[in-house]
Amino acid sequence: MRYSQLFPKTKKEAPKGAESVNHKLLVRGGFIDQLMAGSWTLLPLGWRVVNNINQIIREEMNAVGGQEMLMPLLHPKEIWNETGRWDKADEIMYKLKDARDREYVLSFTHEEIVMDLLRKNIVSFKDLPVAVYHFSTKFRNEPRARSGILRGREFMMKDLYSAHTSEKDLMEYYEKVKGAYVKVFERLGFDYRVTEAGGGVFTDKNTHEFQVLSAGGEDTIFYCDSCDWGANQEIFKGSQGDKCSECGKGQVVKTKAIEVGNVFPLGTWYAEKMGMYFTDSQGQKKPVWFGSYGIGPTRVMGALVEVNHDERGIIWPEVVAPFAVHLVSLPGAEKQTKEAYGQLKEVGVEVLWDDREVSAGVKFADADLIGIPVRLVASAKSKDKLEWKARSSDKTELVSLDEAVKRLK
Ligand code: ATP
Ligand code: MG
Repeated sequence: MRYSQLFPKTKKEAPKGAESVNHKLLVRGGFIDQLMAGSWTLLPLGWRVVNNINQIIREEMNAVGGQEMLMPLLHPKEIWNETGRWDKADEIMYKLKDARDREYVLSFTHEEIVMDLLRKNIVSFKDLPVAVYHFSTKFRNEPRARSGILRGREFMMKDLYSAHTSEKDLMEYYEKVKGAYVKVFERLGFDYRVTEAGGGVFTDKNTHEFQVLSAGGEDTIFYCDSCDWGANQEIFKGSQGDKCSECGKGQVVKTKAIEVGNVFPLGTWYAEKMGMYFTDSQGQKKPVWFGSYGIGPTRVMGALVEVNHDERGIIWPEVVAPFAVHLVSLPGAEKQTKEAYGQLKEVGVEVLWDDREVSAGVKFADADLIGIPVRLVASAKSKDKLEWKARSSDKTELVSLDEAVKRLK
């Protein structure tokens, strides 16, 4: 892609009132645009990053048997009344009426919708277990929508739902999904902890959160500096410096964190409320055991920026970067640049080519702000070579086009 054609261009100034790093850098870099508080357009660069994040999540969900689908976002009141959540979750729901006075809510989660799907399609134990997921928009009337794209009133979520014949089967699958989440967050390169947490408007049971350690986080968590115990502030009754009650060796550490994922072992409550009974092998009617599992890809993008940046801009990990290489052409290297651009594209490397007629300084500053992992500079000075620089390092080296292609392929 030629940078001269990319919409939109970078901005010199951070938006007024922006407090968080992800808000400032993602807006300045041209990744996101704010419509109103908590509501964001994912611009072409941002959409590329989110799609890369989604693909990693998708692969790990498929690996544990998740089947991708897509559910509606406009939900009738009646379904939400079956569990009582029409009233219980009132504060975070966006409710509306149509011209004939019928009442709806914009999706803030999908447990009831999945339960309705299950009861229409599951008859016996032979139809179970089932695991389905989708990527879609969630609407939540969040009281505070600061923190940039970390907290939207409209945001993207991957939510997986599973149904089982027994508690044992649910809990085995729950552990499998936790393992899949570990793989997702390892692949994204996060320093994170798994913490015990409450269930909010979802369940009375305890749940597990995946928390990225970051000063820019809104959550406070406690974890052991020796074993893998962790808990969030809402349920932990101790304090920093306590001896870990789990392993008896380590000390409890308190820190700020960003919740990027949450898994819920919901049990039979939803099935009982909504009449999702299956026939077991003895011919008896039983409620299904249910679980739900969320990750917020737009929040993940924001979290990546919070933990991967310097004073000049973003430093994307390779696995999610919007392009693999940022090609910068300076005067006197037209032929070289065209050749490099052509060859890299031919072998399938995603290139952003800054082909504008602006100074080297402007191009370098934009490359640093946008944060693509590798910068390649073609100039009269470098002759038939290219200057290779990783965004995360200050070292530069001259390489041949063949060598650059080999490394990026
Ligand atoms: P929080 O405690 O931060 O409000 P939550 O616990 O209500 O989040 P869940 O219902 O567990 O959120 O949602 C699953 C995932 O969706 C979260 O782990 C997070 O990654 C993402 N998410 C939740 N709320 C938002 C939001 N307002 N904006 C962006 N992403 C969100
Ligand atoms: Mg949560």
